[in-house]
Amino acid sequence: MFAYLFGVVVHEVGHYLSSLILGVPEPGIVLHPFDLNQNIYGGDISQALGTRLRRAFSGAAGPLFNLLLGVGVSLVMWPRRSSRWLPFLMWGGITLLVESVGMIIGLVDYPEVSSDWSDVMAAGVPPAVIVFFVVALLVAGSLWLLLLMPLMGLTAEDAFWRKLVVFLVGIPLLLFGAVVYLTLWGSYDSENASYVIQNRQIALGASVALVATLAFLHRPLFPRLDTMSHTPLAHLGWRDTVPAVGLCGAVFVFQLVSFN
Ligand SMILES: [Zn+2]
Repeated sequence: MFAYLFGVVVHEVGHYLSSLILGVPEPGIVLHPFDLNQNIYGGDISQALGTRLRRAFSGAAGPLFNLLLGVGVSLVMWPRRSSRWLPFLMWGGITLLVESVGMIIGLVDYPEVSSDWSDVMAAGVPPAVIVFFVVALLVAGSLWLLLLMPLMGLTAEDAFWRKLVVFLVGIPLLLFGAVVYLTLWGSYDSENASYVIQNRQIALGASVALVATLAFLHRPLFPRLDTMSHTPLAHLGWRDTVPAVGLCGAVFVFQLVSFN
């Protein structure tokens, strides 16, 4: 959950930086753990985001910034991997999966709705290229998380349902909370409420399918993967879980506070 929420913040910072580069007047960021996270523009954007190329740059900046930082930070920490640093080690893998789902949403949006990746396709990138990256990111992110399973205290021999429960209480639970929240209270962006809830439903479905696939593939794939980059099995204690839960809570509260 931390890796997901933190990644969302970094993603929006990426869009924000691109706004500064493009000279968007009065850019701002709106964050919410359950609702829409987006950049808002106070001034006239007809100049700064006036061409397809500029909109594509702005759209791709968020996902690419998150991928660059997430994968970069996790790779730097990889040699010293331990369960204490698991939230940051997972950031790279989670980012690969989350941004791949973002690309799927872009493919659904294209060409009617303007969003990160549909803007990139509108600038001339063929949808087939995006589909290629969806698959590449899904595979890379899945392998990444499988390699880290020992740090979650999970072995290849553990029961399928046990792994499934461990994964379901992560991002799928958060997205389930988002769908319930949006259904009951609606989006602050009432104009696009149905779009927001549709996006969260796509993400929830994708996350459940992904964690079930990961839990299933762990047993047959892990022994071979682990010979490439061996990670010793961790025995998780409070010293590992309390900081992780604290980090997650901190980002959650940060998003809620900065929403106002
Ligand atoms: Zn974005």
